[in-house]
Amino acid sequence: MTFQEIKEQDSRYILHTYGRVDVALVKGQNARAWDGAGKEYIDFTSGIGVNALGYADPQWAKAVAGQAGAIQHLCNYYYSPQNTGLAQELCQAAGMAQAFFCNSGAEANECAFKVARKYGEKRGASTILTLTDSFHGRTLATLAATGQEAFHKDFQPLNPGFAYAQANDLEAVREKLDGSVCAVLLETVQGEGGVVPMEEGFLHEVQALCQEKDVLFMLDEVQAGVGRTGYFYSCQQWGLSPDVITTAKGLGGGLPIGACLVAERLRDILKPGQQGSTFGGNPVVCAGAREVVRRVSQPEFLQQVREKGAYLTEKLSALPQVEAVRGRGLMLGVKLKKGDAHDVLVKCAEKGLLILTAKALVRFLPPLTITKEDIDAGLGIFAQVLEEI
Ligand SMILES: *Cc1c(COP(=O)(O)O)cnc(C)c1O
Repeated sequence: MTFQEIKEQDSRYILHTYGRVDVALVKGQNARAWDGAGKEYIDFTSGIGVNALGYADPQWAKAVAGQAGAIQHLCNYYYSPQNTGLAQELCQAAGMAQAFFCNSGAEANECAFKVARKYGEKRGASTILTLTDSFHGRTLATLAATGQEAFHKDFQPLNPGFAYAQANDLEAVREKLDGSVCAVLLETVQGEGGVVPMEEGFLHEVQALCQEKDVLFMLDEVQAGVGRTGYFYSCQQWGLSPDVITTAKGLGGGLPIGACLVAERLRDILKPGQQGSTFGGNPVVCAGAREVVRRVSQPEFLQQVREKGAYLTEKLSALPQVEAVRGRGLMLGVKLKKGDAHDVLVKCAEKGLLILTAKALVRFLPPLTITKEDIDAGLGIFAQVLEEI
């Protein structure tokens, strides 16, 4: 099939919910990928932070294929050692007590909302407080949780029970934390909102406020989690103790999985029949996720993510067209002095570099396993494109 034929098929049979770039990948290997005509790309996207171990990692592929050939699915009325094994390994890596498995970040947040509502029920508190410029997903409840009006447009009425406070503004959070609030949900580094890190002091103070008011402190680590920031969960860098962590993207290494992790004091808060998912905890997906957790949770692996992030930040900051670089680890946003981020993305793709944008910024989420050689190769193309805009 030629690229033109693929594009025509897409145009005819797929609902146009994505602004696509003229790239169709058929094969990959760590941070390199190829299209059907053999054109090579360096990948600074990892499928929006999903392919934590890069494309087609041999050990991950072996774990997944092995499980597919053993037993591919069983219903959640039965036990699966892949499922229970992942739950233990993930809870231990995260410092949490129990996991609920689902299939995406939005579903992980949906579960967190149910935990929060149930927690607040006895004192009549049901509002979930989130931050401006947050992103929590596309289902109707996570859309309501997303503090960006652009996403709400055309989909009224929104689910009730959500409120928003200015990010990095403790007084704004304090003002909104009245008796109706059962939980605060926030990203430690806002991803889709423009790669905006929350200040360490703000995070600690919001956590303290939550404790004081008996409100759950919940972190959406869907993008920032699973090694992305150089810590297994980003909150571990600052010694935070969230009541709930939601996680997805990088967790499956490329297969759909999400999880809502709860702390000890919320053990068994949801009862049989109160939450479920047909595919949640699927053994093939869990086999892949176990390989991801095993590798990414190793201190040397996380150390390397931090080093690569520091290296990339330093090189990017030295480019004359770059105004600022922000983010953590291998979750980086680049503010350009001039030029449109989307134009830069298109030009990079033409030259064989895949990147992302977030609001007006260029965004990089390379696979955590990217080599220094591939970082340099990608930076070379990026620098060349910036010279031409
Ligand atoms: C991507 C993302 C989500 C939504 O995840 P899906 O798997 O697309 O449902 C939620 N929260 C954050 C922070 C995200 O980056």
